[in-house]
Amino acid sequence: MDRNEAVLRELNLYPQWVRREQPATADEVGVDGRGTARRADVDAGTEASCVSAENMAASVADTPQSVAVIAQPVPDADEALGTPPVEAAAEPMRVAGVESEEQSREQRIAELDWPELKAMVRDCTACRLRAGCRQTVFGVGDPQADWLFVGEGPGADEDERGEPFVGEAGKLLDNMLLALRLKRGKNVYIANVVKCRPPVEASGKQSPPKSDEITTCLPYLQRQIRLIQPKVIVALGKTAATAMLRTGDVTLGSLRGRTHDFDGIPLVVTYHPAYLLRSPLEKAHAWQDLCLAQQTMRDE
Ligand code: SF4
Repeated sequence: MDRNEAVLRELNLYPQWVRREQPATADEVGVDGRGTARRADVDAGTEASCVSAENMAASVADTPQSVAVIAQPVPDADEALGTPPVEAAAEPMRVAGVESEEQSREQRIAELDWPELKAMVRDCTACRLRAGCRQTVFGVGDPQADWLFVGEGPGADEDERGEPFVGEAGKLLDNMLLALRLKRGKNVYIANVVKCRPPVEASGKQSPPKSDEITTCLPYLQRQIRLIQPKVIVALGKTAATAMLRTGDVTLGSLRGRTHDFDGIPLVVTYHPAYLLRSPLEKAHAWQDLCLAQQTMRDE
């Protein structure tokens, strides 16, 4: 098995996405916000790649296997997970006094350099999440990366190691990076919306961070982004996407398939790797999102 096949198998994209004799129609592959349809076009001996609709839409395909996943209606990952909606982080209730205190904290954070920011996050106790975690998880990678991947918050493994996206979800993210010919730490930075591990619910599932926790922690991520100045941001999961885009409670599906703007930087939304581990068929949709991000990077 060659490297590409191994990557695609890990992403559960092989053999569903092997090259077909005849290409798919634009309807089958879906069309993104830039009017360009994409899908993985893979065969033995070639790299995973994102190809244009023009190359694919020459005739009607007759091999349903390769498009079955892509043609499915896209369920919303968070709905599928039963994740409670994240309240809008954008407009927290503020009282005079408290507001100016928050503003001056945000202002202070906005002026920090990288080491100062790291130190402030390390010592932060600004919200209740700090009491329940072992350590803060700042982020990992190249601080001058073109690519920034942002998740929700640390889990048990991340809390233990002090690094985002380790464990099984981290392995899958590494494979997603590999499919884009990227590598953790090389032109890639990985961070979370909140830097401390949210508590685990009675069901054993980790709860998403609350809106006030996101609001309190978000200035750190905003400062990271200002300092890194990535060319493309990939938001992993609904919590990261809605917090960064300040959309309030909307479905992840409604945010996929187009580029958004985060402070002048294009942002693409896709599924969280932890969700993809539970719903492997969605990996094909995640690949479409990564293709959009790759195309966006090329356009930058
Ligand atoms: S989650 Fe963020 S704001 Fe809350 S204590 Fe941790 S670092 Fe501070």
